[in-house]
Amino acid sequence: MQIIVNHIDHIYNPGTVFEKKALSDVTFKAEDGEYIGLVGHTGSGKSTLALHLNGLMKPTSGGIYYDGVDIASEGYDLRSLRGKVGLVFQYPEHQLFEEDVFTDVCFGPKNLGLEPEETEQRAYESLKAVGIDDDRFYVSPFDLSGGEKRRAAIAGVLAMKPEVLVLDEPCAGLDPQGREEILSIADSLHEMLGITVIIISHSMDDLAEHVERMLVMHEGKLVMDGPAREVFMHREELESMGLAVPEAQAVLSDLKKMGLPVRDDLITIDEARREILRVFGRQA
Ligand code: ADP
Repeated sequence: MQIIVNHIDHIYNPGTVFEKKALSDVTFKAEDGEYIGLVGHTGSGKSTLALHLNGLMKPTSGGIYYDGVDIASEGYDLRSLRGKVGLVFQYPEHQLFEEDVFTDVCFGPKNLGLEPEETEQRAYESLKAVGIDDDRFYVSPFDLSGGEKRRAAIAGVLAMKPEVLVLDEPCAGLDPQGREEILSIADSLHEMLGITVIIISHSMDDLAEHVERMLVMHEGKLVMDGPAREVFMHREELESMGLAVPEAQAVLSDLKKMGLPVRDDLITIDEARREILRVFGRQA
């Protein structure tokens, strides 16, 4: 799998008073098995970009290539692309509608035209992959907890066996425990299934301990693209875009400014704790 986003622009409502350039000259490449965070302030263009990745939106200019083929070319099978690039929208639980959880997760693969046996096998595996117990399979989706609903919705997309999974603000509206639960599911889907996972978030803290690569959007432009640790080193630039670096890194960089000889390229709380203890000559 490879996606190339090549110099795309997207303009909403062109030629009207509501004209809005939401994407401006965005270029990047995503390869098999990558774990990417797409971050940016609200309105920076993240969701618009996500909708382009599976062909739900077309760029105003520029192109998107999936496995080397322009997805805007004539006769391109967009339906199959939508199975390969699974998009989990914000608040996906609003799209749960069948009478029970299992039937809901079967909806996608059934729509792909798969046989009932294969459909059910996929639904079972997907629900297991997101940590939903068998005894919850046949309850109404409306009786699930908030976190379970969201996991069931992710299972519905997973059942299509995507090569790329795009999660748009998967932590929105969840408490810290719920957020961590969803992110550790994203980790395990990336690790166990080996698929490319792209998590969209406006919170760098949510992503710091999870993704490997970070794409930063600002006012429709892709302004940074690199390993998460390197991106976080640009604290002032990020803060000027309304993005806070992870708390652990902010503390280390403040201590460094105050003259303490700490490293400031560490991003997890555990790393920061060890580093501070090291500087004071104590064992972690
Ligand atoms: P994000 O996901 O980073 O919050 P969006 O992609 O939703 O950003 O929005 C990018 C910009 O495009 C914003 O200025 C937003 O107001 C505008 N926008 C989004 N959707 C539409 C739409 N359907 N019509 C017009 N403008 C839109």
